[in-house]
Amino acid sequence: MTNDTYLHKGKRKILVDYLQNNLKISDELVLQAINTVPRHLFMESIFEDFAYEDRAFPIAAGQTISHPSTVAEQSELLQLLPGEKVLEIGTGCGYQTAVLVQMGALVYTIERQKELFDFSQKKLKELNLSPRIHHFGDGFQGLPLYAPFDKILVTCGAQTMPTELLKQLNVGGIIVIPLGNSEDQILYRFTKISDTQFEKEEFGLYKFVPMLGNTNH
Ligand code: SAH
Repeated sequence: MTNDTYLHKGKRKILVDYLQNNLKISDELVLQAINTVPRHLFMESIFEDFAYEDRAFPIAAGQTISHPSTVAEQSELLQLLPGEKVLEIGTGCGYQTAVLVQMGALVYTIERQKELFDFSQKKLKELNLSPRIHHFGDGFQGLPLYAPFDKILVTCGAQTMPTELLKQLNVGGIIVIPLGNSEDQILYRFTKISDTQFEKEEFGLYKFVPMLGNTNH
């Protein structure tokens, strides 16, 4: 892989050990994916030296690349099995998308900012980690044409639950979503137990960029 050196690989291993030992991430698929995907290649080169610290960084269009610990926790909460169909809302720079693809999921991802949509599409292609479908549009609508999904991951904070997404989830499926105001959100996991019933679990406070409607051309 271009510009992925032994130094980067070494730093990734230290990050994975930290996620495993300090944050108790135990899903082998998640740990393996974080150990493999070169996070530094998704970021501005000025931040490259810090790419494997547990920090969020600015990316284009005033958005952020999530902390690696957040990516690990959200990915683990999905209880993903290889071959499952996953809808991701908020591709951003594409790092979380790459982790899901590396985990063996069939990924469908939506981004509403054209600049990030173009960047992530190019980057994921270069790394041979392209999702099944890379869609420029509004995540509130989901992707009805490709529904239902086994899992849905929302990587931006929504004020209220986007009901379209719930409809596009298989019974037995899981949606992981931060819900709250623009300052901070609570991370939730909802498991769909019937067409109308969901089991809800809470996983603490987070700060995601807001989930916004429509697209920004
Ligand atoms: N997973 C990304 C996180 C990016 S931040 C990463 O690792 O880089 C969240 C992203 O959600 C931003 O890129 C933002 O533009 C996008 N977003 C916000 N509202 C959206 C919506 N309604 N539909 C699709 N994407 C949205």
